[in-house]
Amino acid sequence: MSTPEKTAEAKKVYPPLVALPQCPHTTKPPSPKDYGSTVTVIVGEGDDCATFHVYEGLLKHYSSYFRGALSGNWSEGRVGPVELPEDDPETFAVFFHFLYTGKLYSDLKENGTVPMSPHKILEVYIFGDARGIPELCNATIDLLFQTLLQLWAFPANKLSLIYDNTPSNSMLRKFLVLDAVCSFGFDVLESENHLLPIEFLREVILLGRDRNMVAGIGIEKSDWVRIFKESRCEFHTQHA
Ligand SMILES: [Zn+2]
Repeated sequence: MSTPEKTAEAKKVYPPLVALPQCPHTTKPPSPKDYGSTVTVIVGEGDDCATFHVYEGLLKHYSSYFRGALSGNWSEGRVGPVELPEDDPETFAVFFHFLYTGKLYSDLKENGTVPMSPHKILEVYIFGDARGIPELCNATIDLLFQTLLQLWAFPANKLSLIYDNTPSNSMLRKFLVLDAVCSFGFDVLESENHLLPIEFLREVILLGRDRNMVAGIGIEKSDWVRIFKESRCEFHTQHA
């Protein structure tokens, strides 16, 4: 019979997540004395809706959307909750966790993987982009890099979701185009090329030309880590 330590060791996923230093775009979290009162936020609709109670100071510090929604006369003596019927409660829950901890999740799973699918990470980015939360987007880009590196996979079947829900200058698009040039084999072009938006293919060709790299060849994982670390903040949005 093996010891518990050995059992846990055997289940570990390799490689472990690449550690990233704190990026210079990270702001100092507000002091609890500036948290102010709590705001009720109702996310989703019908059976899927969830209610969150969040400090106004945190929402305003991190999100330009909430800065606008909670500013001025409207906020004084305001009694009603903020309603976000179009948003997903699970996605907002990740933002809620981020507001209080600065992280997107508490702990890795026992096997060393991130307790969030790439699809959920992409949805959190799209939410952060729509609600003006640059630091949430930046944390999402970092986690996406770590997760896709660990899985050594490219989310080709999510490109339509991304290109339908982000602006053309999106940092997420920019990151995924570089990831594709560096690590995607493009076998999908032989079978399911409808998965790849034309705009994405155009950007891949242009970036490959500019970087003197041939898309579809693939590079070593260690080179992809080096390239991302060198250009990481090019995919981050400055706090407004
Ligand atoms: Zn940065």
